[in-house]
Amino acid sequence: MENLTFGTQRLVHLDLKGAPPKINFFEKFFPFIKDIGATGILLEWEDTFPYARELLPIGGLSNSAQATAAPYAVEEARQILDLAGDCDLTIVPLVQTFGHMEFVLKHEQWRALREVDDYPSSMCPSNGETMPLIRSLIKQMVAFHPGIQYFHIGCDEVWHMGLCPSCVKRVHSHKYGKAGLYLDHIVEVAQYIKDNYPNLKIIIWDDMLRNIDVNVLQDYYVGNLVEPMVWHYNSPETFQLGAALWEKYSNVFAKVWGASAFKGATSSCQVVPATKYHVGNQLAWLRELSMHAGKVVSFRGMAFTGWSRFDHYATLCELLPCSVPSLCLCMKTWLSGGYSQETNDCVITVLGGDVIDPDSVRSPATPLPQFSFPGWQIYVGFEKLISVRGRYKNIVESDQLSTWLNQWQIANNYTNPMQIDAILPAISELLGEVCGLENYLKSNLEMVFYPHTIDELLGTLVLPIKRRLAQIKADCETQRDLGCRVRGHKRIPL
Ligand SMILES: [Zn+2]
Repeated sequence: MENLTFGTQRLVHLDLKGAPPKINFFEKFFPFIKDIGATGILLEWEDTFPYARELLPIGGLSNSAQATAAPYAVEEARQILDLAGDCDLTIVPLVQTFGHMEFVLKHEQWRALREVDDYPSSMCPSNGETMPLIRSLIKQMVAFHPGIQYFHIGCDEVWHMGLCPSCVKRVHSHKYGKAGLYLDHIVEVAQYIKDNYPNLKIIIWDDMLRNIDVNVLQDYYVGNLVEPMVWHYNSPETFQLGAALWEKYSNVFAKVWGASAFKGATSSCQVVPATKYHVGNQLAWLRELSMHAGKVVSFRGMAFTGWSRFDHYATLCELLPCSVPSLCLCMKTWLSGGYSQETNDCVITVLGGDVIDPDSVRSPATPLPQFSFPGWQIYVGFEKLISVRGRYKNIVESDQLSTWLNQWQIANNYTNPMQIDAILPAISELLGEVCGLENYLKSNLEMVFYPHTIDELLGTLVLPIKRRLAQIKADCETQRDLGCRVRGHKRIPL
């Protein structure tokens, strides 16, 4: 049953940086999320958007398909929008306009716009070239998304603000100090959008507004310009927004959004989402809104965020296909107003199988489970990787290796053949399993992702394990061979 108490919108956030899925994945994914209750997509293209003309370099090194950033072709990007439209999903594009600007500021031609020259994250709002760049970003983005109602300008986590000489001067002379610097900028961005696209409603992440005094927010009339999206990804134990915040926002804004998380909000190198944690986050939000809902003027709805990297340079965290079970559980929990056995049973039906318990230890012989949701083969592949990686860590960090096959012993050929004979079969078996898993992942990842993503994933998660095991295996074989000919650490001449 649909719970309309807490808004009518349920946006699924697609953070496309690093792991943009191929179009055929969206063909299945969009109808799937529509079925489980999504009403729209919060679409964060980052460097995957086919920027043109003066913004062309944002899409990576234009001549290198293997670059870390590879934008969608214009036709592909259009197809994504068409597919979402076919499912009646509202598109809310998101483009960062203050912080998290690495995808732009890493390029030499925009380096001068950094607030801190060494760090490519935040833009300097005092630089005369900053607004022309932002206007270009917004113009191209809006032009590509005809018929949109909402536009998200990001503006969260502006790590560096008021640090360059011009900004230091402004902060000192501004009656609201740093808060004034922030608000001046977002008002300028929002005003540009209002002037040029008067029908667009503008959304902004709220974290930078949280500590700004209500009178200052009112003085700027920010409530006339933007709708805050209040993000909080914690579990019930550490969830803290509180009545005062809602009261403040209700005095400033007519409409407020919430944002929870279904992936990319626990460990920065998490492989498969901690579903219990994310379901807990939904429960915390439900509790928060029940307790303080009366003070919120009007709640538009929720964005279920799914981050793909903690920042532009961070390693990839959970992939979208690995996170479909978590998304499903989060959405159903939200819609049911709580989590129960019934919620769980409903999700099992939708997924075509039970969510894998991350704590379960499966023997290598256990066949991979089967599901029916889009990308499930990748999900089970990465679950398998977690299990293999656990066994790998147990072996390489074992007393057995430290005691009978350490680096000094290998260098000095001081090894006990009996121990080598015990270590070698376990290493060979695990290496065989890793190679099998690598092939499985490669062939299934190719169905959903582009080569640069697969290269990064395997190079980060699988190849180091494979190389290390192959080295240990080679060391074992060398030592076993030598074992017949050495005594102590003095080699006996043949
Ligand atoms: Zn500055």
